[in-house]
Amino acid sequence: MSLKQFMWEKRLSFQGKTLVYLDMLRKWQWLDKESLHQLQQERLKTLLSHAFHNTAYYREIFRESEVVDRFGNIHLENFGNLPLLDKELIRFRFEELLSSDMSERNWYENTSGGSTGVPVRFIQDEEYFFWNQAIKALDDEWTGRAINDKQVRLWGSERDLMAGRDSFRTQVGRWLRNERWLNSLRMTQATMREYIDQINRFRPVQILAYVESLYELARYSEREKIPLYSPRAIMTSAGTLYPHMRETIERVFQTKMFNRYGSTEVGDVACECDRHKGLHVSTPTHYVEILRPDGTQARPGEVGEIVITLLVNQVMPFVRYRIGDMGVWSADTCDCGRGLPLLQEVIGRRTDMFIDQQGRWIDGRVFLFILDPKPYIQKFQVIQEKRDMLRVLIVPVDRAVGYQAEMESIRQDIQKIMTCNVHFEFCNEIEPSPSGKYLYTISNVRR
Ligand SMILES: [Zn+2]
Repeated sequence: MSLKQFMWEKRLSFQGKTLVYLDMLRKWQWLDKESLHQLQQERLKTLLSHAFHNTAYYREIFRESEVVDRFGNIHLENFGNLPLLDKELIRFRFEELLSSDMSERNWYENTSGGSTGVPVRFIQDEEYFFWNQAIKALDDEWTGRAINDKQVRLWGSERDLMAGRDSFRTQVGRWLRNERWLNSLRMTQATMREYIDQINRFRPVQILAYVESLYELARYSEREKIPLYSPRAIMTSAGTLYPHMRETIERVFQTKMFNRYGSTEVGDVACECDRHKGLHVSTPTHYVEILRPDGTQARPGEVGEIVITLLVNQVMPFVRYRIGDMGVWSADTCDCGRGLPLLQEVIGRRTDMFIDQQGRWIDGRVFLFILDPKPYIQKFQVIQEKRDMLRVLIVPVDRAVGYQAEMESIRQDIQKIMTCNVHFEFCNEIEPSPSGKYLYTISNVRR
C-alpha cells in the first residue's frame, strides 16, 4: 500500500490512536529531564528487544556489538558500539531490516527523495503513522494552532508535481482538514501573486512552509508592496532557517516563526516552542545523538552529525540512522518548563561539512564568506577531496584573465581556516547535483 492510499484508508489524520498518543505526549512534555530520560531508556530497550528478536540485521549487529549478551539481556552501555545505519545499508539489506511479524501489522511503503540524489524505499507501520500525526498536532499546539484550525501549506515536491493534478480523494481530505496547499516548486511572479491572494482570502491560523519558498514569497511581497495577511504563526521545515530569512519573513508577515526539524524517514524530530530558545526534541519517540567525526558524543555547543533511533516504527526499525544533517545540542533549559532537551541548531547537510586533519568538523559555509563576495567570480564550488586537499572550481567573469594574485589571497584565507593544499580550477560551467540543486560545497571525505 502506498502512503497516500494508507492515509485515505484512515480517512482523516485524527482517527485511530492519534488522539490517544497526543494526550500522552501532552503529559510527557512537562516531565522533568530525569523522568524523560528514564522513559526514553525504557522505550529504547523495548525497541531494541523487538529488533533483536524479529530482524536478521539487528540480531547480527547487536550480538557483535555486545548490545545483547548470550542470555538475551540488553546492555545500553554498549549502544555506542553499534554501527550506524545509512541509506545505502537500507537499500542493500532491506529484507533483513524487516520485522518477522510484519504480516500482523498494518504498514505502507514510503520513499525519501532527499537532496543527495537516489531515493530510498522503506516501510512504516500504523503505530508510527499515529505517533507522527500526534507529534505534528503537539507541535502545532505550541504554535497556537488547534486541530483543524485553518492552515496554508506552501509545500511541494518534484514527485507531486510530476504526478500532475491532485486526486479527488486528496483534495477532499485537505478540505476536511481545513488545509490549502500551494505548490512551492517553480514559483513565478504570477504564481506568487496568486498565492498571496489565496492567503489573504483564506486567512489561515498558521502557514506551514518550506523556508526558502516562503522567504522568496516574503521578499516578493515586500518588493512589490503587496500586503499579506498575518497568521498567528508560521512553521517552517525542510531546509536551513538562516537568521536573515527569519528576520525578513517575520517582518513581512508580522508574526513569529517556529522552526521544526524532521524527515520522511523518521518523521518530526524536534520543534521550537513559543520561547524560541531552540528545538525541543521529542524524546519519547526519537533517541537523538550528535556525534563527532570519531564517533564520540559531541558536547553542547559543539557541531556534530545527527544520528537518530526511531522508537516508534517496529516494522522496519531504524537504529542509529545517519539522517545526513549536522546539529548542535544546547546547554540551556527552556523557561517554558518542558523537560524535553533542546537542539540549539540544525545545520544543513552533512555533505556541507568538511573534516580537517585534526578530525574536527569545519562548516563548509565559511567558504561562502571568502569566495561569494568576489566580483570576478561568477560561480564557484569548493570540494574537499582529502583531509588535506581542497579543489576550488571557479567560473570567472573573464576567462582571459589569470587572477593569480587573487587566487593566492583566497588560498591564504582558506588556509587560515583549514590547514590544507588548495587547487584552483577555472571552468565554464559547474554541474548541479543529481537533484538539480547547485551546491557550493561538497565533501568527498567520509569519516
Ligand atoms: Zn520551550
